[in-house]
Amino acid sequence: MQRQALRWQRGGMPVGLVPTMGALHAGHMSLIRRARKAVGDKGIVVVSIYVNPTQFNDAKDLRVYPRPLTADKKLCRAEGVDAVFAPSSLYEKDSSVSIDETVVSRGMEGDARPGHFRGVATVVVKLCNLVQPTAAVFGEKDWQQAALIRRVVRDLDLLVRIVVAPTVREADGLACSSRNVLLSVTERKQATALWQAIGLARKGNLRGLKRRLILFIEKQPNARVDYVEFFDEQTMRPVKPKKGARMALAVFIGKTRLIDNARI
Ligand code: AMP
Repeated sequence: MQRQALRWQRGGMPVGLVPTMGALHAGHMSLIRRARKAVGDKGIVVVSIYVNPTQFNDAKDLRVYPRPLTADKKLCRAEGVDAVFAPSSLYEKDSSVSIDETVVSRGMEGDARPGHFRGVATVVVKLCNLVQPTAAVFGEKDWQQAALIRRVVRDLDLLVRIVVAPTVREADGLACSSRNVLLSVTERKQATALWQAIGLARKGNLRGLKRRLILFIEKQPNARVDYVEFFDEQTMRPVKPKKGARMALAVFIGKTRLIDNARI
C-alpha cells in the first residue's frame, strides 16, 4: 500500500533525502552514496544542511557548531548530489507544534540532552514535508536517533522509506563526526578511547564491565564519561551487558561531547 501511495504522490520519480547539519565528512558521503543507490541514476538525491537550533540543549554547543557551507556544497557537487537544501530558518517565530516520541527517546541521548529528540523528530518531519522524499538515509552512528525516526515514520504514517547506513570511521576507529574538528591534537588522540572501549567490551569479560569501561576511558586526562549503556536493539530498553546487546556511550573530551555505539 505504501509503495503505491509513494508512486501516486511523486509521479514515479524517486527522491532520496540525506538530512544533515553540514560540516560534511566521510560519514555523510557514505549516506549520499546510499541515497543514490536507493533512488537510482534517474532519481534525485537531496542533501539538507540545517543546524537545527531546536535539537540543541546547550547554547554554546549550537554557537560553536561548524558551518562551512561553501565547502559542503562543493563536496555535494563532487558526489553528484542533485540539490542542496540549506534553509536559513525553518521555524515561525511563534511556532507552537512539535513532535514528542515517548518510548524510544527515553534514556541515553534523550536523558542526557532534554528536548533533543523533540527537536530531531520535529525537524525530520518538517524536512520530509518540504522535500517529499521517497527514501531518507540516516547513520547508524546515531542509533537512537535512527530508531526514533523509524518510530515517528511508523506511528505518523509518513510515506518515506527509512534507510540506515553503517558508521564510517577514521583509520584509528574514531567515528567520523562534524564535532571532531573541534578537538585539539591531544584531545583527538584521546578520543580513540571510545572505539577502544567498544573493543574492550567485545572481548567478552562482562563482569563489572560498565565500571571497567568508565575507568578505562577516564584514564585519558581530558575524558569524562557522560554515559555507557547497553540496550536491546529491537526494544531499545536497557539490558545487562551481554553478547548481541548494543553498547552506546557519550564522552566529553575536553569541552567536546562525542558519541558512538556498536553491537558487542
Ligand atoms: P549530523 O550532520 O551529525 O546531524 O548527521 C547527519 C547524518 O549523518 C545522521 O543521520 C548521522 O547519523 C549521520 N552520520 C554522522 N556521522 C556518521 C558516521 N561517522 N557514519 C555514518 N553516518 C554518520
